[in-house]
Amino acid sequence: MSGNTLNPFAAAQKKLDEVAEKLHLDPAIHQLLREPQREISFTFPVKMDDGTTKIFRGFRVLHSEAIGPGKGGIRFHPQENIDTIKALATWMTWKCSLVQLPLGGAKGGVICDPRTMSEGETERLCRAYIQKIAYQIGPLQDIPAPDVMTNPKMMAWMIDEFMKIRGEYLPGAITGKPLGFGGSRGRTPATGKGVVFTIREAFKHLGQDFAGKTCSIQGFGNVARYAALGFIDMGGKVLSVSDVNGCIYCPTGLDIYKLLEITTQYGEIDRSKLPTGYEERDRDEWLAFEVDVLIPAALDGQIRSDNIDKIKHSVKIIAEGANGPTAPEADEELNRRGVFIIPDFLCNSGGVIVSYFEGVQNSMNYYWSEEEVYQKLDLMITQAFRNVVTIAHDKNLSNRDAAYSIAVDRVAQAVRLRGWV
Ligand code: NAD
Repeated sequence: MSGNTLNPFAAAQKKLDEVAEKLHLDPAIHQLLREPQREISFTFPVKMDDGTTKIFRGFRVLHSEAIGPGKGGIRFHPQENIDTIKALATWMTWKCSLVQLPLGGAKGGVICDPRTMSEGETERLCRAYIQKIAYQIGPLQDIPAPDVMTNPKMMAWMIDEFMKIRGEYLPGAITGKPLGFGGSRGRTPATGKGVVFTIREAFKHLGQDFAGKTCSIQGFGNVARYAALGFIDMGGKVLSVSDVNGCIYCPTGLDIYKLLEITTQYGEIDRSKLPTGYEERDRDEWLAFEVDVLIPAALDGQIRSDNIDKIKHSVKIIAEGANGPTAPEADEELNRRGVFIIPDFLCNSGGVIVSYFEGVQNSMNYYWSEEEVYQKLDLMITQAFRNVVTIAHDKNLSNRDAAYSIAVDRVAQAVRLRGWV
């Protein structure tokens, strides 16, 4: 699932082509899975606080519903574009399949920058976006969730708007809702928690202890911060985290709770309040520290052939918290060097697993404890991890290729079982 900074969707298709060849995939199934089943691109007006009206562009893409209803987050980003959304929707299909959720793949987004918008403007934008897709989404059609620069509060506005339009109580139509309004315990930390469960399994697989290990994390948003907390809970040390403005580094380990106190909801750290002894480094230095684990948890296309030589020999594991952080050429080189890569659609699947649990709880109208959620998450992601390393070993594949062959094969099987091909 490695990204390509130029066109992520072309990269997603190219990867599928390679897997299709290895699996001797039926040409019709291959063709079906190369393109999204549906893509919507639209504009919509939002009234701004100063009385003007601004026109925004939004997207929703359903890549595949072969295994079940589409599932995938909504991104708010100034550089959002349809190719990124199509690639991410495709990757959601593989991710849900890999961890054996009865769901397909989808993704959505809006070209906007919520950091520059007031709360009222953001709420109006969320509601207007849902008005455009209210009949394309639903618990049995396509189920959105939070992603980059969207959060549970926005999901609450969106589900409220959706239920008003549809005239039914359908909380399972959107996941990642706040606790107290249909949300699942443990949803917000789920992706970061899952990242750490897979790192724990990777150390076990490599025959090494987790305790005492060090990491550097790119990002300090939703995924990164819970991965950081989980890494410390396992007895490790986080030497660096970074945001859009640069890296924060401390050779003896960062106090993540302290950093969280001085971080905005969009993951930007207030430099003026850094504890003493913390160093500021350039944004791109996150992968150049002498650590055991690198956790890219910000954006796609971050590990490339032009910066791969900065990665130190001490790095044993790359845990892909972000979607598509490693470009294909860099991926090949890292595999040659023997770095254990936990591919993104396995590593960051904790969010969608607990999103699925949220939908299950919504339909039962019965809610689990946080402990129960984490136990179930651990079981599911650990099982998926073991399937990947078993296939990688048996078929002499990289972890990523093993994960792809499992995921694509399951979707193809559903397509055949349904009699589509
Ligand atoms: P977020 O918006 O909460 O945080 C993003 C973080 O990255 C922020 O700290 C931001 O300052 C930082 N950042 C942005 N540009 C950067 C740059 N050039 N260098 C360093 N840091 C930079 O986003 P998130 O929800 O944590 O998602 C991060 C990644 O994980 C994305 O690729 C997303 O698609 C993926 N992901 C998220 C979830 C989820 O549940 N949130 C689940 C699966 C995958």
